[in-house]
Amino acid sequence: MRQGRLFVISGPSGAGKGTICSELLKSEDLELSISMTTRAPRGKEVDGVSYYFVSHEEFQKTIDEGGLLEWAEIYNNRYGTPKAPVLKKLDAGKDVILEIEMQGAMQVKKNYPQCVLIFVLPPSLSELKKRLIARGTETPEQIELRTRTTLDEIKKIKDYSYFIINDDLSTALQDARTIIRAEHLRVDDRASEIIERYENEEV
Ligand code: 5GP
Repeated sequence: MRQGRLFVISGPSGAGKGTICSELLKSEDLELSISMTTRAPRGKEVDGVSYYFVSHEEFQKTIDEGGLLEWAEIYNNRYGTPKAPVLKKLDAGKDVILEIEMQGAMQVKKNYPQCVLIFVLPPSLSELKKRLIARGTETPEQIELRTRTTLDEIKKIKDYSYFIINDDLSTALQDARTIIRAEHLRVDDRASEIIERYENEEV
């Protein structure tokens, strides 16, 4: 059976990866990978839905057992993608989407080179700062630090296959759907399937 595609949505914090990802899940035939994290739940977050909330010990044990496709430490908390469920879905021909930060995206590229890396950019650095303030989940110091590191992160875009500038959400979503569609139209491993379609025709 043909493997599903692994779409990786990444990019600087606050560019809107989460919104793009959750909107895509509503309209596209995609399976979201639920990450594991050591950070505490916020607001209405539910264990097993937003994240698997685990202790540092449990996270470390999962790393030691080779159970993560990638992981990263961000501001003293760890985040990682459980490997087995992702591989199982891909093997079953389902497309999977990951919404992760950039260190993790590079590990996915290394561990699963067939993945499709999509970089989500803010319209500008000043707009990014405004969005982070509006989100209200970071302290002013954290916001300063994040906006300062964003340019360095943008300079790493060469490692990615596609980019989306998230200025207007509906345009950004259209771009994301176009990328998904284009990936489905790649010949790659589908050559024999396509040829068979015509070979089996009565003419
Ligand atoms: P938050 O704590 O706001 O939910 O997430 C912080 C950052 O962690 C976001 O940039 C998010 O994309 C990233 N993130 C969430 N899950 C994972 C994961 O499994 N692996 C990596 N590398 N980053 C993740």
